[in-house]
Amino acid sequence: MSDDSKIATTTIDRYGVMGYPISHSRSPVIHRLFALQTGQNIQYELLQVSPEKLETAVRQFQRTGGKGLNITVPHKTEVSRLVDHTSERAATAGAVNTLSFVGSEIHGDNTDGIGLLRDLVVNLGVTLQDANILILGAGGATRGIIGPLLEMQPASIQIANRSLGKAAALADHFSKSGPVAACRFSAVPVANPYDLVINATSAGVKGEVPPYPAAAISKNSFCYDLSYGLQPTPFSVWARDVGAPQSVMGWGMLVEQAAESFSIWRGVRPDTAPVLKQMKITA
Ligand code: NDP
Repeated sequence: MSDDSKIATTTIDRYGVMGYPISHSRSPVIHRLFALQTGQNIQYELLQVSPEKLETAVRQFQRTGGKGLNITVPHKTEVSRLVDHTSERAATAGAVNTLSFVGSEIHGDNTDGIGLLRDLVVNLGVTLQDANILILGAGGATRGIIGPLLEMQPASIQIANRSLGKAAALADHFSKSGPVAACRFSAVPVANPYDLVINATSAGVKGEVPPYPAAAISKNSFCYDLSYGLQPTPFSVWARDVGAPQSVMGWGMLVEQAAESFSIWRGVRPDTAPVLKQMKITA
């Protein structure tokens, strides 16, 4: 064994996830399972940070030797401000969910989009080419997933949001790259049935069910909730109630986006299947 490899196995590198609230996050469990599986010596912390303390907390984590952070609700857009080098996919998204501390610099990436795509296409076998897609919500997660979804050449992406302005700004930003439009929940066009309906609101975290557009769900609509829980989420229950044939929670996206972050940080890609299985049972 070389001196370098001795150092690698005896040094604990620190990572964590920052959000507000954060107690529901399963990221520490997932990263511990990845670390065990791949033999990486890491520590992963849960960090509750309010919006006004975000910059101080990120810089302190960096100053005290932290190697990387996941960034979650509601900080993904705001944290972009602190980043020195932004990956292409984070720039396209205008949102960052993965920070790497490289020397004195902060590198920002976005693994949400690739995480969702891997779950939809690889794990669940959903066809995105020529699909009509409805996204409910226009926050950081939506910003992260539109670019990758557009690369799969869907027929259309409709973004519906409580605040029309945020959906309209996203549609405007992405309409150069493909067919993206915006509306309120009450004005979702239903002339063409939606093949895929994605809930990207955070309403379920608070147990709320906004006035989602029931007429948008047909017998061919695959429903996917970015939120997840051991019990069906409010959106999953709603989707089943209004006739969706399949309604899946975002466990797969969670594990896949974490795997992408882990491989950015550690240079090794974990096998997600056993971790996903374990998460759904024991989370
Ligand atoms: P943001 O805070 O950036 O955006 C929240 C969105 O939810 C906004 O569009 C907001 O609408 C909408 N919203 C919140 N409450 C309500 C409500 N009561 N009624 C209607 N709309 C509401 O969050 P993110 O985009 O970062 O995350 C969204 C969700 O996706 C979260 O639940 C998050 O946990 C989940 N997620 C899951 C991932 C996974 O790996 N499975 C990865 C990333 C996110 P408005 O603009 O009107 O305020």
